Amino acid sequence: VFGKIVRAPEDPILGVTVAYNKDTSPVKLNLGVGAYRTEEGKPLVLNVVRKAEQLLVNDQSRVKEYLPIVGLVDFNKLSAKLILGADSPAIKDNRVTTVQCLSGTGSLRVGAEFLARHYHQLTIYIPQPTWGNHPKVFTLAGLSVKTYRYYDPATRGLNFQGLLEDLRAAPSGAIVLLHACAHNPTGVDPTLEQWEQIRQLMRSKGLLPFFDSAYQGFASGSLDADAQSVRMFVADGGECLVAQSYAKNMGLYGERVGALSIVCKTEDVASRVESQLKLVIRPMYSSPPIHGASIVATILKDSTMYKEWTLELKAMADRIISMRQQLFDALSARGTPGDWSHIIKQIGMFTFTGLNSEQVAFMTKEYHIYMTSDGRISMAGLSSKTVPHLTDAIHAAVTR
Ligand code: PMP
Repeated sequence: VFGKIVRAPEDPILGVTVAYNKDTSPVKLNLGVGAYRTEEGKPLVLNVVRKAEQLLVNDQSRVKEYLPIVGLVDFNKLSAKLILGADSPAIKDNRVTTVQCLSGTGSLRVGAEFLARHYHQLTIYIPQPTWGNHPKVFTLAGLSVKTYRYYDPATRGLNFQGLLEDLRAAPSGAIVLLHACAHNPTGVDPTLEQWEQIRQLMRSKGLLPFFDSAYQGFASGSLDADAQSVRMFVADGGECLVAQSYAKNMGLYGERVGALSIVCKTEDVASRVESQLKLVIRPMYSSPPIHGASIVATILKDSTMYKEWTLELKAMADRIISMRQQLFDALSARGTPGDWSHIIKQIGMFTFTGLNSEQVAFMTKEYHIYMTSDGRISMAGLSSKTVPHLTDAIHAAVTR
């Protein structure tokens, strides 16, 4: 009965790793994967995560019963506090509902399904470009996806005027997806002044913000600094949605830990929203997994472990920032034609190099360097040892 099924294309991002794994060259380099690597090129489990896991294992009172539909209550409270701030008026007023979801992707999906059922305006605006999964998640949830201008290839920075024009032209009430920080794939974020203008415009038109926060603490090394865009929107008393992921900032990729918070106008509305979120979640996966959320809750509620986490997080962010500087310095020293200052201006895990798909294909073929065809490289996949090889490849690609 399945004989006529056509083969689906490989996921454009995950497909990079599939191709990399097939390559037998000793100098091969995977800059496609959006996961942190140490200077030795190895995945990292944070010490504080190991410690939390040990505590959980040693606690004989812990059982493996189902979590409630909304997940671990402590985890939800602590997650809201982490993104909105300990002194958030919305939390104090009990007008935030938070549900534990399957990492960032699951949080986006649950939020989207909720909006498709209960929100009056089914159009969502996503930045151009954006993370490749965004359009699929929202379309499959039943929303109609449109784009707003975001990136300016000429400056390799933000097309702020284009962004404002497109949001101004959006129908009143439309949903707008915003990357809370460290925009993927461009590494280009609005300044705080620009965020403020975006906020004013969106509120004046009644546009509904849906934040995707996949990199809190990973961009600048500060959890508070990376949450400022979200907090600005919450401070004005209006509604918003926030999808949080602990994949990057706690290195819990495969544990699939995330949270969806919906900030409402009143406590009563928040509790009705939560009742409907449960109806979204129950037929999808009943309830979320317990282990990853328990790790997060253990760390967030203990001040010593929390502090330890912030230090380890800062170390990851700093290594990425240092890779940016090293690559920029190496290209400058090499005299590679072009302005490469965007490498140190952009933030977060990725650099949008400006290399085109032909140049990328050349670098893969001749230098065994793997990245997405849009020229995005993961700075976390780079080390002091591999910077010279990448520099050679970029130099050859642009002087060909
Ligand atoms: N949003 C953005 C912008 C991302 O870059 C990612 C991860 N690449 C995610 C969401 C979701 O990640 P996860 O589901 O692993 O938390």
